[in-house]
Amino acid sequence: MAWDFSTEPEFEKKLEWVRAFVETEVRPLEFIYYDLTQEQLDRIEAPLKEEVKRQGLWAAHLDRELGGQGMGQLNLALLHEILGRYVMAPEIFGNQAPDSGNAELLAVGANEAQKQRWLWPLLDGRLRSSFALTEPFVASTDPTAIRSMAVRDGDHWVLNGHKWFASNADVADFVLAMVVTNPEAPPHARAAMIVIERGTPGLEIVRNVGTMAHPDPRELERQGRLGGHTEIRFRDCRVPAANMIGQPGEGFMLAQRRLGGGRIHHAMRMIGQCHRAFEMMCERAVSRETRGKPLGQHQMMQDLIAESAVEIETARLLTLKAAWSMDHEGGKAARKEIAMIKYYAAQVLFNVLDRAIQLHGALGYSTDLPLEWMFRMARALRIADGADEIHKVTIAKEVLKRATVKQGWPTEHVPTNRDAAFRKFAHLLEQHTANL
Ligand SMILES: Cc1cc2nc3c(=O)[nH]c(=O)nc-3n(C[C@H](O)[C@H](O)[C@H](O)COP(=O)(O)OP(=O)(O)OC[C@H]3O[C@@H](n4cnc5c(N)ncnc54)[C@H](O)[C@@H]3O)c2cc1C
Repeated sequence: MAWDFSTEPEFEKKLEWVRAFVETEVRPLEFIYYDLTQEQLDRIEAPLKEEVKRQGLWAAHLDRELGGQGMGQLNLALLHEILGRYVMAPEIFGNQAPDSGNAELLAVGANEAQKQRWLWPLLDGRLRSSFALTEPFVASTDPTAIRSMAVRDGDHWVLNGHKWFASNADVADFVLAMVVTNPEAPPHARAAMIVIERGTPGLEIVRNVGTMAHPDPRELERQGRLGGHTEIRFRDCRVPAANMIGQPGEGFMLAQRRLGGGRIHHAMRMIGQCHRAFEMMCERAVSRETRGKPLGQHQMMQDLIAESAVEIETARLLTLKAAWSMDHEGGKAARKEIAMIKYYAAQVLFNVLDRAIQLHGALGYSTDLPLEWMFRMARALRIADGADEIHKVTIAKEVLKRATVKQGWPTEHVPTNRDAAFRKFAHLLEQHTANL
């Protein structure tokens, strides 16, 4: 089947607008990002968000009935390639993790009253949310292994447990937690999703965990900033029964729904970051000289550039193909491609940033360029949202579904094929021998 990644001229115009807007309005913000308090940042971002809404591009990933554009995965992929260049762009376009994924989960699982209370304000940007699945003492790459529990008590659920890396939980208006409600059920039917609102007694914010991106999270806290990865405990935390999203046992299914097309946008944002790092690399390669010629004329530097160019193009085409498959064949058919791009794009971004730093020498390692923090942030992408290995397992399983068991010698066994080929052409070979 032929793939077609072309877009309508109308949409191309939209992308042109996004490119210009992101470069002139969003890019400058990045240079003062860490000097601002959350309140100052919100004040600067508010009119930019309004402009995005006026252009009909706010939360474009959502279906039309949720206020999105229903523009299809291929168009969204191209949009996110532009947004990925600068860390604040997704937020300004209403597509900030974890809020975007949580909105998708609530859209699928929440009832009308729950949508009124949490989904619509979240989509409007009036509430902020967190998602708590990962636990410090459980290998959370396997979500069926989680231990935090909710026990029904009259009109309430009572939660006890321990989570960490719940991004933004310390500043969120609500936490969406995956907890076990029925430990005796089959593994995929044990857990449920429950909303715990800020300030609920028993919801204990332990700390923000220091990471490569923010080794000292106290800086974020001083500024009241988003971006912390929070450790939380539930200690006899009572929440109304009405806070459960969906039914007991549906937690795993809802967690899966949360990730859907988001992985395509996520991968395209990584490609956007790759483009930015690659442009820096090329600029430096033609601008700095050593031993009488530009860096870009030294073969080992050319190797860095060529490897990066090929990897970026490969990752980009693979991601566009995943988007195209999702548009034309549905999410199930695109499962393999989605797993491929999640791990491959993260690996390519890591490689390209590493090479870009190398080509820039000390300047690349310094905070005078954005490469060092891009590199630190990129490292997380090979773990968060499913470690590389988990996606590779999915790829292999999908590929092997199409493989056929062969008893005896393998299909390509040379002696067997040689005998068969001699038998096939025997009449011609006999004629030839007879004519000699
Ligand atoms: C920046 C960042 C933000 C995050 N935000 C959130 C959030 O908002 N909410 C949330 O709930 N979680 C969040 N996480 C947590 C993230 O989802 C988990 O770290 C991830 O799922 C891996 O779980 P784990 O850390 O428990 O690793 P483990 O399960 O302990 O796995 C450790 C390593 O073992 C290997 N491994 C695991 N399973 C297999 C396997 N089957 N086969 C082969 N190798 C395997 C992998 O290399 C893996 O990295 C975030 C993480 C990061 C880094």
